[in-house]
Amino acid sequence: MTPTAPGALRPAGAVDRDRLLATFLGLVAVDSPTGHEESIGRVLEERYRELGCTTTKDDIGNIVAVLPGTRAGTILVSTHMDTAGTDRGIVPIMGDDGIIRTDGSTILGADDKSGLAACLELLRLLKENPDWSFPTIEFVSTVGEERGLVGSRHLDVGRLAATHGFVLDTAGVMGSVTYWSPTSVYLTVTFHGRKAHAGVEPEKGVSAVRVAAQAIASMPLGRIDEETVANIGTVHGGEARNIIPDTVVLEGMARSHDQDKLDGQLAAMRTACEHAADANGATVDFVAEEIYQTYRIAEDALPYREAAAAIRSLGLEVSPRKSGGGTDGNYFNAKGIPCVALPTGMVDEHATSEHIAIDDMVLACQTLVAIVTQPVQEE
Ligand SMILES: [Zn+2]
Repeated sequence: MTPTAPGALRPAGAVDRDRLLATFLGLVAVDSPTGHEESIGRVLEERYRELGCTTTKDDIGNIVAVLPGTRAGTILVSTHMDTAGTDRGIVPIMGDDGIIRTDGSTILGADDKSGLAACLELLRLLKENPDWSFPTIEFVSTVGEERGLVGSRHLDVGRLAATHGFVLDTAGVMGSVTYWSPTSVYLTVTFHGRKAHAGVEPEKGVSAVRVAAQAIASMPLGRIDEETVANIGTVHGGEARNIIPDTVVLEGMARSHDQDKLDGQLAAMRTACEHAADANGATVDFVAEEIYQTYRIAEDALPYREAAAAIRSLGLEVSPRKSGGGTDGNYFNAKGIPCVALPTGMVDEHATSEHIAIDDMVLACQTLVAIVTQPVQEE
């Protein structure tokens, strides 16, 4: 290693806390609930260009901004533009404890504006320090992440040159590396019974509500095992108090880090539905849609090693993290670009208690800077 000149800041130490914070607050001020990413997209494209990137936008609004490197190699840095739910007019409140929250009436949107802010601060530092050595960086900012990874699912990765990447979009302690994520399946189950007047001729009816209730009561739900969870989240059906309902629709999901266990769980849920339908003279349509696929990155794989080295260079401990949810990284991995996901400092994302500590936001940005500027590791 080349000795650092006396007094010279290591690249990660150059992160400008106040500027990063101002960038974050500026992004939070731009409304971007899922499906309404036009404004934030415009702001980001402009910033990316000002900071030296060429940008392209695909037909659904995903932005790819490319900064040419000063050395060989290309990496992907992934973020998403949309915020969960429908909240607009978000007002961040700075606490004396160094934590940013809202008044509790909306989410904060640190998911994923803290990731986006880290990218913009990185770009400013790279612009200010043209002597730093760094690879070409493809910043991918997706739309629709919160609605089932729509953007990354749709993205044509044939346009990307990255050999591996980093997804700035998780909660978890600083220093964690999400190397293993589950497969997620959405379920839509429709029970068809027979409608009848409940007061006049109930004998002629088959209650889809009763069938659905029997099915739900007999299927394994909740935490199934260490790798697997399942839930029925919504129940819709029926028309009126005095009509035996002929249709009920259930929406649910199942996730597992283990494909065999997931297949077993889905089979158990399907069987419970079919048995309940058969026993009552009803029918059922059971539709399972894979939303994203599991990935597992080995500790000796390049994205893991680069993230780990960067984290250690900041004096932090590396903690391998197995996540319960997915990120755009699931699609990049599935499409052949191995990625790990990293924390941005966000806590309680998707809830009105969402918050972020400025110190953690700085650490997340420093981790990114360290990843990009560290000495090249062997493949
Ligand atoms: Zn997110």
